Amino acid sequence: MRYITDFHLHTKYSRATSKYLGLEELTRWAHIKGLEILGTSDFTHPKWFAEIREKFEPAGEGLYTIKKEFLNTADIPMSVVDRPFFFMLTSEVSCIYSKGGKVRRLHILLAFPSLEDVEAFNARLTARGAKLASDGRPILGMDAKDVAAIGFDVSEHALVIPAHAWTPWFAIFGSKSGFDSIEECYEELADRIYAVETGLSSDPPMNWRMKDMQTRFVISNSDAHSGPKIGREANIFELAKPSYFAIFDALKNHDAKTFLETIEFYPEEGMYHYDGHRKCGVRMHPDQTKKEKGLCPKCKLPVTVGVLSQVEKLAAFPAGHTPANVPSHRYLVPLPEILSEVYGKGWQTQTVQNAYFDLIKKGGDEFHLLLDMPVAEIRDIGGDILATAIEKMRAGDLAIEPGYDGVYGTVKIFKPGELERLQPKQQSLL
Ligand SMILES: [Zn+2]
Ligand SMILES: [Zn+2]
Repeated sequence: MRYITDFHLHTKYSRATSKYLGLEELTRWAHIKGLEILGTSDFTHPKWFAEIREKFEPAGEGLYTIKKEFLNTADIPMSVVDRPFFFMLTSEVSCIYSKGGKVRRLHILLAFPSLEDVEAFNARLTARGAKLASDGRPILGMDAKDVAAIGFDVSEHALVIPAHAWTPWFAIFGSKSGFDSIEECYEELADRIYAVETGLSSDPPMNWRMKDMQTRFVISNSDAHSGPKIGREANIFELAKPSYFAIFDALKNHDAKTFLETIEFYPEEGMYHYDGHRKCGVRMHPDQTKKEKGLCPKCKLPVTVGVLSQVEKLAAFPAGHTPANVPSHRYLVPLPEILSEVYGKGWQTQTVQNAYFDLIKKGGDEFHLLLDMPVAEIRDIGGDILATAIEKMRAGDLAIEPGYDGVYGTVKIFKPGELERLQPKQQSLL
């Protein structure tokens, strides 16, 4: 069976995260989105861990479910309550330390197959002076390699995964914070780092250009700070049964028959995809930056270097290189954003929200609508324009403006004038 997974998000115990994001709300959104396995996140936080320990029961194979008495199914107003759904124990920590005479700031995603492992891991961090109650994603004044070593010491099945690998300020390959290779960071433990998280700012093809990524997998997670953003990036596994160990083995053994696919956000939407100057309105592809010798053609000062340029700098392979045996990947535009274009209103407006939940009720869940549902069926439940929009999204027929120097990029389904041309057609059909 196909299991769609999102391992990295945050809860009400993390800064800048929705105060509603507890277990019930995570469960509700996982069902709406169509996820089968969701990371608990934030397991280092004492209050969150206490809640998990009270409300979870083992589902076997290193995964957990919520005990029935704690699950308020009234909040999950759909027939999906009976679908298979599991939690995996995951968390993110932020390491700030100096190595080789440079300050390093990087985020690490961790996962364990049991509550006992998490308890032991948290105790070891606390013994090292970590203030775990300060935030769901605690800042540790520890070397990332030491954190990994503790993880592997606690469990031979610990997963240690560099998070959102390319963000400039807090990532292993970040231009302002990281390292040039996984070996440089994790030294003799590097061969136990089985995967790297793309983050919203990179996609698998960008990562595949790294020497490090020829034998490691790329994984994709939402890093959501609110319910509606859960699953905006995700991983698809084909598993005989739901199992932490099967996922662990697939990553360790580079098994693309088990790890089938990742769901991607368009990296162009990130604020630092291209190079440029926000105040000069200058946006440049790395090739153009090279021609301009790194300077802004308007003000002649060095441009802010984006993620694509950083990839170019560290890459061992040309653009388009694909390593052997990797999962496929698909780019999606979240359904609320598609509806926002169709209705010409913001995704948080009542109109778009009503249309969204109406579609979920009729269609089952968001992934089913975006990935699987035949276009004719979408037309039946959502109308002509929505069916065309999803068809265009699946074909990658979009209008994309890459972000640069702190300006978000935009990904639109319809090019200027396109939607207007479709509308009269729908009216004549009504
Ligand atoms: Zn992070
Ligand atoms: Zn400039």
